[in-house]
Amino acid sequence: METPDKRLRIHRGDITRLDIDAIVNAANETLLGGGGVDGAIHRAAGPELLAYCRTLGGCPTGEARMTPGFHLPARYILHTVGPIWQGGGHDEAHLLAGCYRACLALAESRGLRHLAFPAISCGIYGYPWEAAATIAIATCREGLERNPTLEHVLLVAFSDEMADLYHRLLKE
Ligand code: ADP
Repeated sequence: METPDKRLRIHRGDITRLDIDAIVNAANETLLGGGGVDGAIHRAAGPELLAYCRTLGGCPTGEARMTPGFHLPARYILHTVGPIWQGGGHDEAHLLAGCYRACLALAESRGLRHLAFPAISCGIYGYPWEAAATIAIATCREGLERNPTLEHVLLVAFSDEMADLYHRLLKE
């Protein structure tokens, strides 16, 4: 078994293209689609995803819900709702860590071996990147340490800047 650090990897690219057990969606509380990565996932998964999400009744910030991947290469989608950045005094860090933990817990309970996260809250929701990436790395390391079934967690960067940030923070 590789060490947790070797099992945590950075991937520069489009999360909808990944052929793995599950990808994470940075959704909103309605779970009925939106912009950014959410829109890209709904487009790639097809209309069956929206129909399925309508049956779920939404998801509170900091929690996660699982759906099939439908037309995606990934088998499952873990939809989580990141906090909207409001300056840092509204429990944002705790809620963001909760998103990563909720997805890692779902992965553990379903015996998933590979999981990919987008940079939750780092787009439309405005979370400062370095603070968010620090939380992402710390919670994923914890999850990998407690769950040996999880072979790899990918932190997906959609820009070179985000990939560089993850690389720098992983080395520290
Ligand atoms: P949020 O509302 O949680 O901020 P966004 O979708 O606006 O969610 O952005 C979250 C992150 O996902 C941003 O870093 C954005 O660049 C990235 N992103 C957008 N599209 C994709 C994609 N297709 N694959 C991977 N990451 C993506």
